Amino acid sequence: MTDMHSWPTPLPGHGAPANAWRRRGLWGMLVLVVVGLLATLVWLARSYEMEQTQRDLERDNSYAAQALRQRLARNLQDLHGLAATQTEAVGWTAAAGPMLGEHREWLRLQWRDPQLQLLAAADSPYYAPLPAPESDLPPNVDLGQACAQAAKTAGPVYAPSRFVPRPGGLGDEVMELCLPILHGTRLLGYLVAAHTLEGVLAQLPTQLTRGQSVSLTELDGTRLAVQGAPRRGTRVFVAQQVLDLPGAPMVLRLEGARQLPDVFPNVLTALVTGLSIALVTVLVLLARDFRRRQAAEAELAQALSFRKAMEDSLVTGLRARDLQGRITYVNPAFCAMVGYEPHELIGRGAPMPYWPPEHAHEYGERQVQRLAGQAPGRDGFESVFLRKDGTRFPVLIFEAPLIAAVGKQTGWMSAVMDMTALRRAEELSRASQERLQASARLATVGEMASLMSHELNQPLAVISSYATGSLNLLQGGPAAGADAAMLHDVRTALTRIADQAGRAGKVIHSVRDLVRQRSTARQAVAPRELVDTVLPLVQLQARKLDALLQVDVPPTLPAVWCEPTMIEQVLINLARNGLQAMDQGAAARVLRLRARAVPDGEPPSAVEFSVADTGCGIADDVAEQLFTPFFTTKDEGMGLGLSLCRTVVEQHGGKLLHAPQSPRGTVFSFLLPLARG
Ligand code: ADP
Repeated sequence: MTDMHSWPTPLPGHGAPANAWRRRGLWGMLVLVVVGLLATLVWLARSYEMEQTQRDLERDNSYAAQALRQRLARNLQDLHGLAATQTEAVGWTAAAGPMLGEHREWLRLQWRDPQLQLLAAADSPYYAPLPAPESDLPPNVDLGQACAQAAKTAGPVYAPSRFVPRPGGLGDEVMELCLPILHGTRLLGYLVAAHTLEGVLAQLPTQLTRGQSVSLTELDGTRLAVQGAPRRGTRVFVAQQVLDLPGAPMVLRLEGARQLPDVFPNVLTALVTGLSIALVTVLVLLARDFRRRQAAEAELAQALSFRKAMEDSLVTGLRARDLQGRITYVNPAFCAMVGYEPHELIGRGAPMPYWPPEHAHEYGERQVQRLAGQAPGRDGFESVFLRKDGTRFPVLIFEAPLIAAVGKQTGWMSAVMDMTALRRAEELSRASQERLQASARLATVGEMASLMSHELNQPLAVISSYATGSLNLLQGGPAAGADAAMLHDVRTALTRIADQAGRAGKVIHSVRDLVRQRSTARQAVAPRELVDTVLPLVQLQARKLDALLQVDVPPTLPAVWCEPTMIEQVLINLARNGLQAMDQGAAARVLRLRARAVPDGEPPSAVEFSVADTGCGIADDVAEQLFTPFFTTKDEGMGLGLSLCRTVVEQHGGKLLHAPQSPRGTVFSFLLPLARG
């Protein structure tokens, strides 16, 4: 519990905004890093995708170049075959025809002698024939050079391509191949094959030209022939490769338009992006959760500090014990009460340091009962504790099971109240009550004194007259014969004197009995005894007021449990009030003192005392204030009688009631419990 002091309390101050800014800065940085990472990732994925596309195109291009080279190599073989097999112009032309049918890229085949004179020629059946070969004599410079080169290298040489216009504004890019026909090292002539570059490209597999264009360009980039058209796309990718044809190197160029890769080009990036977004979302949620948690913590801290403040300011001692009876918590009030520090108490089991040794056994048993699950009453119980300084003090303990949040009992909680002050107050009030009673009795005595003087007058007068008579008898001197009679008279007189003196003594006794301080302890008393004690005094008053006193208290009534002095005082007060009420001109003055067992006809549980008069009765406005201290309607009254009576009766567990009596007067009554056993 002491940890609670260290709970952080969020205080408004300079630290709070600085912290908030720092936190915001950190969050900003985190978001920046995540966004940067994401952008890099997307960029990398995109460039990878583009690279991939480029690589695909390069691969296609290499494949196309390879295919072209193979095709051209096969063409060469066919040409070699033609040259080797045909040595006659007629046969050569016959053989060249079908070959042209097989090779769509050829426009014309020519057989020329070493001086490049045309021996035979055949045209492709697929194209319009080129301008007449006759006009081609001598052949163009390029071809001449190519053939010279070919003769020199004894291998095929291509002449640079040239554009041959066709009717209708069209034309063919024509490239001629010059193949020397050799017999050993002797040059027999040349085979010249005119290729249309478009036709060459058309030999490529169709999948290469689908959606992309294949073109042949010169080294400087001038386009010579093109096949296919690139599909429309946002970006054109280009792959080039040099086609090193002997004599006429060219560039094979593949162009393909591709859609730019998406921002999220593939599933992986989409996934990673998705995960990153999820991560950021989780972070944001976490931040929110964190903030909520912080708020809850602040609230909790506040609640705890409030609880602590509340506990500290409580004057009731609080003590919690676990199910083994060990103390788990004490509040400052409890510590102040018993004079021990919390650490001296927490963890302690029976016997507790604050148990007085003489009660330790009893308390131990009570604790055992409690631990066995026997809950105490809701009213609490009284006990005595021992302070550390050795003083004992009364406490009132309320105990209740300590139920944890899950509904399981985890121990016992006790509220302990120091009763010292209360007891002192009770003691004081009791003492003052007793003093008040005593003074009320003394007041009664004062009242009685005048009655007594009146009452004692009579016996004293009788005593004095008898004493005077006796003296006279004795003064006359003893006469013979008269002795016996005189002695008899004197004896009679003395007996009367003794009687009257006894009567006077009784009167004084009854007053003394009443005034004397007797034990205030409760005891079993017979109702008759109570009434008998007060009777002489009541009689005195009744006689003075000329009232008839009726006493109806059967001697067989069971004993009641009370403080006799107090109850006697009540009876005297009630009787006196009744008599005084009849003083004001009542015709028939009867005061009835009565006691009876109640309830009727059943084993009695109480005795009802009643004092009835035939006085003036109680008016409504008087009835309202009847029990108010110092309320009186009498000149010499103190107004304390009834309020005292009510206190006494209530202390005995009863209630003082009053009711009108018919035909006139009032009845006051109260119940007293029967003595047990
Ligand atoms: P006190 O007798 O000194 O006046 P009490 O408290 O005994 O004080 O009585 C208060 C008042 O109640 C009396 O002044 C009287 O007016 C009224 N009272 C008490 N007893 C009776 C009774 N038996 N009949 C009529 N009035 C009564």
